[in-house]
Amino acid sequence: RVVYVNGQWRPHRAAMVHVEDRGYQFGDGVYEVCEVQGGRLVDERRHTERLLRSLSELRIPLPLPVSALSVVLHETVRRNRMSDGIVYLQVTRGVARRDHGFPPAGTRPSLVVSARRIDPAIGAATARTGIAVVTLPETRWARVDIKAVALLPNVLAKQAAREQGAREAWFVDRDGFVTEGASSNAWIVTATDELVTRPVGPDILRGISREVVKDAARAGRLTLVERPFTVAEALAAREAFVTAASQIVMPVVRIDGHAVGGGVPGPVAAALRAAFHRHAEFS
Ligand code: PLP
Repeated sequence: RVVYVNGQWRPHRAAMVHVEDRGYQFGDGVYEVCEVQGGRLVDERRHTERLLRSLSELRIPLPLPVSALSVVLHETVRRNRMSDGIVYLQVTRGVARRDHGFPPAGTRPSLVVSARRIDPAIGAATARTGIAVVTLPETRWARVDIKAVALLPNVLAKQAAREQGAREAWFVDRDGFVTEGASSNAWIVTATDELVTRPVGPDILRGISREVVKDAARAGRLTLVERPFTVAEALAAREAFVTAASQIVMPVVRIDGHAVGGGVPGPVAAALRAAFHRHAEFS
């Protein structure tokens, strides 16, 4: 495996950034995870747009032109002889003497791009049985629309889920509404056949898979409603599922130990999963 680190290709075991990198010191950086299918990037354009938005919100410049970034992403796929998996990209504010305020002008942001193979059969098998989720109080900051590398609440939530035998954690806001998963967007299908997901805003990440599923839902003539839903609604729902680049559409069959939709994956999630790549853009 090779990794792109600030303009150079390094063997995976020797791919490093400095200890005074601000990503390491402060979590001062952003990232993207892009699915790779059949050796091609899935929705690169949307991932790049979201990256540019995260960077501009944090006033971190992209250290190379977007066209060069695209070349690096494709080279990462090619050099790793990737067919299926993910590409991970991270941009931090760079290396500087530790001081909370921004580093001196001219500090070059750090860019790292790596790839990991994932056998698509694993996700397909998981999607046939579905996953369990647990719910936890929302403890993240007020700008989770920025895809920042600082993910402590997500780390703790994911670990809490794992310790309870679940695969994902859903954060619940003060009013009892689900915001999103620790690394996914949350959806339900109600008894009246509404497909419900929380509207975008500063309290959720604008998932690229969420956008693709919205397109797939429209094409499938499902009634899409963007509104917050409660845990009680999710428990009473016909189906629940999560979306993320690394999981596509993943059925949720248990929430806090209670079965959802009879405890088996439902037809809407299955159909959206099957249709997903028809609504994605490959490059
Ligand atoms: N929400 C959070 C907190 C995430 O970390 C992710 C992705 O990992 C998502 C939602 C889904 O986003 P995407 O579909 O772009 O992968």
